[in-house]
Amino acid sequence: MFLRSLRNLRKTVGFRLTVWYSGIFIFSSLLLFGLAYFLLSSSLSKQDHEAIQLKLKELSAFFESGGMELLEREITIEKKFEKKTPFFIRVAGRGNRTLLLIIPYQWAEFDIKKLEKTTSNTHITWIQLRDKKNKIVLEVASIRLNNDFMLQVGKNTEDRERILMHFREIFAAVMIPLILLGFTGGTFFAFRALRPIRHLITTIRSIGTGRMAARVPSPQTGDELEELVGLFNGMVEKIEALINGMRDSLDNVAHDLRTPMTRLRGFAEMALQSDQNVEACREALADCLEESERIIKMLNTLMDISEAETGVMKLNREVVDISALVERVLDMYRHVAEEKGIDIYPTIPHGLCVTADPARMSQVLANSLDNAIKYTPHGGRIYIEANQLQQQIVIGVRDSGIGIPQEELPRIWDRLYRGDQSRSEKGLGLGLSLVRAIVRAHKGRVEVFSELGKGSTFTIYLPADG
Ligand code: ADP
Repeated sequence: MFLRSLRNLRKTVGFRLTVWYSGIFIFSSLLLFGLAYFLLSSSLSKQDHEAIQLKLKELSAFFESGGMELLEREITIEKKFEKKTPFFIRVAGRGNRTLLLIIPYQWAEFDIKKLEKTTSNTHITWIQLRDKKNKIVLEVASIRLNNDFMLQVGKNTEDRERILMHFREIFAAVMIPLILLGFTGGTFFAFRALRPIRHLITTIRSIGTGRMAARVPSPQTGDELEELVGLFNGMVEKIEALINGMRDSLDNVAHDLRTPMTRLRGFAEMALQSDQNVEACREALADCLEESERIIKMLNTLMDISEAETGVMKLNREVVDISALVERVLDMYRHVAEEKGIDIYPTIPHGLCVTADPARMSQVLANSLDNAIKYTPHGGRIYIEANQLQQQIVIGVRDSGIGIPQEELPRIWDRLYRGDQSRSEKGLGLGLSLVRAIVRAHKGRVEVFSELGKGSTFTIYLPADG
């Protein structure tokens, strides 16, 4: 169990990020330390070499000015401070025999005898002797003073080693907590940065179990993850609207098809029962046809509403001249209006245009005008006005009709809703739902103002730039 969760943890992006982050952190720290260590060590070694060379030159100068006598005197003085001097000094005579020797106090033991086997010339030559533990090195510079004498000055690396050791200890003392900090910091940041992804996974899982209302909380970081979360939530919202739209349509269809289907069945039964009565049969078939057309119209309109509401309606946008559009719609309704003795007054400024789908906008205007004519009694008036108000094109259809009771106003946009006093008129109760869905699909809105017994005004607002 524990092993499996460990194996699963190893597969997580958070874990991998942490390992990478810590790995890079540790590697760069080691690299930095290595560089600093190398620089310090070579600078200390250079310092030592310079000090040895200086001492060598100083002693050779004594030899040059006062010969072996002066050098001997100088070294004898130096020997008095043997305990303090950091230098190893050896003067060798013929056959590399040791004549004078100063070995600083408390030195690790070096096999000085090896120096007796060395040779030198007028240039400085370097020899290294290791102590018995092979830890400390004695670096010796040799120079030939003349044919007989050779001078050797040396210094051990103990001080240097101590400083470097101190440096290594400081590094270890700093690095271990720093690595731990890096690892915990890496884990914290990786898991924190991936929190939106984990929320996303949880949300997708719960959507998978049917909880469509689940949303991913926005991380509010302004980065790509916030964008991803926003896009995901937007997508789920659309899918939910689509599903709800489909469900509503299906409910409505199931509910509202029952009546016309029962009627259809009744007409068909009537036709079957009217034995050889051709006229009655014809009448029943005509009723069947009318009823089935009504059903088809209802289904098509429901589909259109659903498509427009869910954003899948294809809109062929183009620049539409509003007065031409109104004129075309008026042509369709002029006859009906005349029959009812209703006068229509269009007031549309010349050249006023909107970017929209002309066929869909015709449907919007036709439905609004159809309602206005239907719900306006004989001898009434209808005004169609259009204007541009700042960034909006406003189209209004005002009638002097029966008006809508205040309590019905919020419901007139619902699918298949029909007002109480409208039952006498033909209709499916889908006209206004379609108007609103199409206008919204054009990023506009539609409002109604109505006074019972005085008339209604439907106002459509569309963005001027489409
Ligand atoms: P339908 O006209 O087929 O009944 P609509 O969706 O077009 O369906 O309208 C819904 C309801 O809104 C109507 O039944 C009616 O009660 C009311 N209504 C719509 N337009 C008007 C109007 N111009 N005047 C009065 N009532 C209206």
